Amino acid sequence: MSDIHANLLALEAVLADTAPYDKVWCLGDLVGYGPDPNECIERVRGLPGACLAGNHDWAVLGKLDLRSFNREARIASAWTREELTQESHAYLGELPARAESDGFTIVHASPREPIWEYVLDTQVALANFDHFTTGVCLLGHSHIPLMFVLDGERRRCHIVLPEPSDRIEIDSRTMMVNPGSVGQPRDGDPRASYAILDTDADTWEVCRVEYPIEEVQGRMRGRKLPRRLIDRLASGY
Ligand code: ZN
Repeated sequence: MSDIHANLLALEAVLADTAPYDKVWCLGDLVGYGPDPNECIERVRGLPGACLAGNHDWAVLGKLDLRSFNREARIASAWTREELTQESHAYLGELPARAESDGFTIVHASPREPIWEYVLDTQVALANFDHFTTGVCLLGHSHIPLMFVLDGERRRCHIVLPEPSDRIEIDSRTMMVNPGSVGQPRDGDPRASYAILDTDADTWEVCRVEYPIEEVQGRMRGRKLPRRLIDRLASGY
């Protein structure tokens, strides 16, 4: 899963929907935008698996210039920074930007630029295939579930937009796979997005799950987070 963005109710819905699981890989952006940063960090740190740092995590740590964010993201980031406990702050500070686990490369954004680059088109994707050596790289950051597959000669790649519950084979080709966003989907479907990776069957599938969006919006209003961030959860954009 990726891009929880302090949306605890979406995170809980995903964990309930996907259980039982052996491991959870969290591909960064635990915080930023949403109303419950400490609670999300607490929940993720108790899960078996690995967690990476995203650009929003770095922003609240002061490791990234807030001027690169839009106005609403800046406001939410500043609020989050005030809100974080010392423990949460320390946890975010220890997260790596890139990892390899069980034969998979995992990053937040792209293998070439693990914190910041968006992989949304085949040109950017193609340039990134030279930056990991495992068969599959898992990434997040764009908040859109998708996959890029490298073609045989390594000169071209194509994009796949998976439908929920499509079981997609992970074969010997090189791939980059994005599970979409738990806490702030941007593909027009407001349901929380995550993916199940089945390493016995060698498949992955995107899953979508409903969560109480209005309740999260109420919490955001209570914390005086920007209106646009509140509204966009309902449209999934
Ligand atoms: Zn994000």
